[in-house]
Amino acid sequence: MSMVNAFDPEAESGLSPAEKDLVRRREKLLGPAYRLFYEKPVHIVRGEGVWLHDPSGQAYLDVYNNVASVGHCHPRVVEALSRQAATLNTHTRYLHETILDYAERLLARVPSELGHVMFTCTGSEANDLALRVARAYTGRRGLIVTKLAYHGVTSAVAEISPSLGDYVPRGDHIRLIPAPDAYRGDGDVGARMARDVREAVADMRAHGIEPAALLVDTIFSSDGVFAEPVGFLRPAVEAIRAEGGLFIADEVQPGFGRVGPDFWGFARHGLVPDMVTVGKPMGNGHPMAGVFVKPRLVEDFGRKARYFNTFGGNPVSCAVGLAVLDVIEGEGLAESAREVGDYMRAGLRDLAGRHPAIGDVRGAGLFIGLELVVDRAGKAPASALTTRVVNGLRERRVLISATGPGANILKIRPPLVFRREHADIFLDRMAAVLEDVAAQ
Ligand code: PMP
Repeated sequence: MSMVNAFDPEAESGLSPAEKDLVRRREKLLGPAYRLFYEKPVHIVRGEGVWLHDPSGQAYLDVYNNVASVGHCHPRVVEALSRQAATLNTHTRYLHETILDYAERLLARVPSELGHVMFTCTGSEANDLALRVARAYTGRRGLIVTKLAYHGVTSAVAEISPSLGDYVPRGDHIRLIPAPDAYRGDGDVGARMARDVREAVADMRAHGIEPAALLVDTIFSSDGVFAEPVGFLRPAVEAIRAEGGLFIADEVQPGFGRVGPDFWGFARHGLVPDMVTVGKPMGNGHPMAGVFVKPRLVEDFGRKARYFNTFGGNPVSCAVGLAVLDVIEGEGLAESAREVGDYMRAGLRDLAGRHPAIGDVRGAGLFIGLELVVDRAGKAPASALTTRVVNGLRERRVLISATGPGANILKIRPPLVFRREHADIFLDRMAAVLEDVAAQ
């Protein structure tokens, strides 16, 4: 897999002495596993709404960060956090109202079959817990994920995160299926994905392994952003269930209104998963995540394996989570995600009329994939061009990144408070960068 939008420390081009010093301190202190974005890294010290500011006060338009989903440093979230932090912060082994109020609000947002919510601190932990429950319930261990999936950093979920590269080992119980790519693939994506699931199950069984679950990010973010046609996931889910496996929806990326009023990626496909994992935007930057689960799945597990996560579901996190939901609902952000997302896609399709390098514009709500190709007939990934576009936008103070197997798909997913006026700024600067790179 091509290296996606990573700074090359050997180059250090264009950095000020202070920035070079920060880069060297990071390397020395944090070790070699961390990556920075961009040929010229961005140093950010303050955020507000859809804007991020560098130390000199220059503002960058954030078209990338889906964690600060209700806007950077939203006053209502900050206020809820500070108030609860000044009152009490313990854990889930004492009685407290806030976790219950929050759980009620969350459960009202998902299909009624998902009757419980369990709290973690990260999406990785949520997926890890979901895997434990799936294995305990089915008594099986086989897992099916997409070819370039990312599900997190614990041992168990790094194994099902092939986007980390082949260096990270995958167990013999894991099978990879192609991403549901309606742009490159022929025919019916849904039928193809269902066939791929059946083949993966057959191959597992040939090796004496039974399938426990199909686990997918329902917007297929690291695979390249695949949202259409609505409903394409259903045959694959029917296929895994027909084989006695569960369906786990990883909503860490699309969840909490990003894909529009359906609120969740799975809901766009008309599905009720057996488990749903959530994280990132749930706390607008405060580390919180969780698993929604059908009660029968955890009945036995809950009796035999007690669950305690020191920080998961603490009163401060729950106060933050409630404030985030209040803002999403009070400011109509899921509705606006659809409206502004459609507006952005229309603007990008307009640009495609002038720029043959744009092969495809896709996505749902404010989760947009824009694929750059060498030519539209051959669809070869324009990886180098994409790097120039990502860095060109950074020079024009617009932050996005790239994804997909060819690192040629622009990943566009701003905070949900992104309005038409911000979309216009983005589209103007995008047009200028595409003209620059076309002229090079
Ligand atoms: N699932 C998906 C789809 C993700 O994108 C991520 C994070 N990028 C995770 C799980 C893991 O979440 P966390 O980094 O909070 O552990």
